[in-house]
Amino acid sequence: MTTADAPHPHDAAAPHPEGATHPLALAPVTPPPATVDGFVAEFLRTLNFDCGVALSASTANDRYVALAHTVRDYLMGRWLEDLRQQKETQAKSVCYLSAEYLLGRQLDNNLLASGLTEIAAEALAACGLSLDELREHEIEPGLGNGGLGRLAACFIDSLATLGVPSIGYGIRYEYGIFRQTFEDGQQVEQPDAWLTLGSPWEFPHPERAQLVSFGGRTETYDDGGVTRTRWVPAWNVSAIPCNYMVPGFENGRVNTLRLWRAKATDAFDLRIFNSGDYEEAVRAQTFAENISKVLYPEDSTPQGKELRLQQQYFFVAASIHDFLDTMLAEGYDLAKLGDRVIFQLNDTHPVIAVPELMRVLVDERGMDWDAAWAVTRRCFAYTCHTLLPEALEVWSVDLLGRLLPRHLEIIYRINEEFLAAVRARFGDDELRIRNMSIIAEFPERAVRMAYLATVAGSKVNGVAELHSQLLREKVLPDFDAFYPGKFTNVTNGVTPRRFLRLANPALSSLITEAIGEGWVTDLERLRELEPFADDAGFRASFAEVKAANKRRLNDVLHARDGMRVGDGHLVDVMVKRLHEYKRQLLKVLHVVSEYEGVISGRIPLEQLQPRTVVFGAKAAPGYAMAKRIIHLINAVGSTVNADTRLDGRLQVLFPPNYNVTLAESVIPAADLSEQISLAGKEASGTGNMKFALNGALTIGTDDGANVEIRELVGDENFFLFGMAEPEVEALSARGYRPSEFYQADAGLRRAIDLIASGSFSAGDRSVFEPIVSNLLYEDRFMVLADYASYMAAQDRVDAAYRDGDRWIRSAILNVARCGFFSSDRSIHDYIDRIWHTPPMI
Ligand SMILES: *Cc1c(COP(=O)(O)O)cnc(C)c1O
Repeated sequence: MTTADAPHPHDAAAPHPEGATHPLALAPVTPPPATVDGFVAEFLRTLNFDCGVALSASTANDRYVALAHTVRDYLMGRWLEDLRQQKETQAKSVCYLSAEYLLGRQLDNNLLASGLTEIAAEALAACGLSLDELREHEIEPGLGNGGLGRLAACFIDSLATLGVPSIGYGIRYEYGIFRQTFEDGQQVEQPDAWLTLGSPWEFPHPERAQLVSFGGRTETYDDGGVTRTRWVPAWNVSAIPCNYMVPGFENGRVNTLRLWRAKATDAFDLRIFNSGDYEEAVRAQTFAENISKVLYPEDSTPQGKELRLQQQYFFVAASIHDFLDTMLAEGYDLAKLGDRVIFQLNDTHPVIAVPELMRVLVDERGMDWDAAWAVTRRCFAYTCHTLLPEALEVWSVDLLGRLLPRHLEIIYRINEEFLAAVRARFGDDELRIRNMSIIAEFPERAVRMAYLATVAGSKVNGVAELHSQLLREKVLPDFDAFYPGKFTNVTNGVTPRRFLRLANPALSSLITEAIGEGWVTDLERLRELEPFADDAGFRASFAEVKAANKRRLNDVLHARDGMRVGDGHLVDVMVKRLHEYKRQLLKVLHVVSEYEGVISGRIPLEQLQPRTVVFGAKAAPGYAMAKRIIHLINAVGSTVNADTRLDGRLQVLFPPNYNVTLAESVIPAADLSEQISLAGKEASGTGNMKFALNGALTIGTDDGANVEIRELVGDENFFLFGMAEPEVEALSARGYRPSEFYQADAGLRRAIDLIASGSFSAGDRSVFEPIVSNLLYEDRFMVLADYASYMAAQDRVDAAYRDGDRWIRSAILNVARCGFFSSDRSIHDYIDRIWHTPPMI
């Protein structure tokens, strides 16, 4: 075929090309049978034909790539079929819009989903290779910061497993979340060059690019007596779709994750740099391609950077156009778009999609404003992920107007009409109007993206019961009054495939032996484990699984960082992003207090419950206090670990670069899960769920989903401490003075004084002075107010752990009672409360 004959990109997907006569041309080619011999043949074929090497000459990367391609081949037929079905059936689809997907490694997950794990292991062994070694070769795609991005990854897994017609849209960052190393205990960020060797899971389609425009101006024109507006942009970039398979668990379905990569266009070079200057042209190219270059490493405190807004618009514009172009039948009536799609906004990052859809409908498709607004309001739903005011994203009108002038006009009109409706309902209550306006006036004129999402969304949900309640009562009360029924809750969940079945094979086998296989896709069935808590034999097996997982963690940490988990230690884990509201400092104060108690002779060494405290946390590179806290944890760790007076009974490990892969080793080994945020600050948490499902007991505040965990597992199987949210409010209202708590508690004073004295900084008192003075004079997250209660709860932990049998019983009950926290259940809730999509299976 000559280039002149090249089909239109969309025609290329036609299932039966005109004139095909060979029987093989009529359907997707199927791989060899799913047997060891079939797998060996396909593996060697991909190694030879895709990688272009013989087995004897292959590198570890060649073998990993060939293995990945083999797994892909087995999934391909279903993927092509699912893509075809979604287009043809025209069933209502979920478009999950998320700027982040913290995917974790793909190989194991895709082997598991396709039921090929054992066959692959045997096939590789027959080739003299080891699956265990090859899986270590994969660099995880870290295209997210923390909980929000991991939630998106769990959700696409559940959508595929439940067979919901859906697609995930996001950004194919060239550099994901930075790789963290420590130098002298301080965080150093290294670029995450995860694509250096390419990704064998990625299917780029440059020929299906979408054009995304920026800048310029708007103009009005006469369209047969109707005045219309059009956007005259200044520059474009090309958005290249890169597809990833999202296989459902053993159900033969394969969904799509479509991540966009920015590429310069010729038009781009010509419009701004038409000087013919080669260097300028190359520079222009770099400028365009910067858009998908790097993930912003801020977790919950966004910086209002121009490039970030470019990223947001880039991926949502490409996604909306992609959906309209490729998923809608020819001549589809756009007035019915709400029957065909729901765009779920994962936080405010994709909210610029709202004015983009309005622009497409009104300016490009000629729909009148009111009709377009009616359609748009049905097509969006918004998930809020925070309660921290500083985390609510705003974009200055100045920047937005420069980058997306037409969108700003549309936002103004949405706001005008919205505020008119508010006046009509509540009268000219200027304070209320100002509070509800999508446009903030101070400290600068800016668009409040959460408000825009709330006005446009058919539903707004929080991510845990408490969070949804506080969202309605504290963050958006005027909106709740104005839009009765708009607010709802969907408590987060985690995928049992990755976080139980894959991460904890030993516990998975034990569960399956006890209650059969079904729990992997019906996690409430873990309830059937409850009676086994009273079975001494089962308890012994459960304890052995936990011990084995600790040995496995020990091996991982030893190989990775030269660290060791203490023999027979309680494994006490706090892994999550470093943020003051999460209160890693409270955990540090506990460690320092125990340490101080022993070295001062106040705590007899034999009374100290042997513990290994494991931290994992990245700090945003610009978040100075968070980085200081990392430094303090490392400093306390090296002092404590080296002090022979403790005889190794207290160990602090801080393996760098906490990511999904490390989570999969750490969580199954944990005895104690630290979920100690200030009440009212953690929207949900999902780490808390992963731990409980892996048989760790939680020490936690009444915050986020901890509340629901405690309700389910029972008070006697949960270590609750600290103020509840109303008490936090009351203390704030009275005026919180942390120094009063310092003065009143001798133990707290000794711990803080030890830090202040320079004991952990070679006598240099200045190093941690900013932490100490912040605690004493500001302490925004009330660490000192909750210290005494936390220490008392830790004493209860020690006592409970000493009664080994009782502890194991509680741990089993945690597993048995936390099936609710499957992301499959979350997706069912989204379907029932928000999406109303038909189930496909
Ligand atoms: C689950 C997870 C998180 C979220 O943890 P929280 O404790 O809910 O903040 C962050 N990072 C990784 C790698 C995770 O797997």
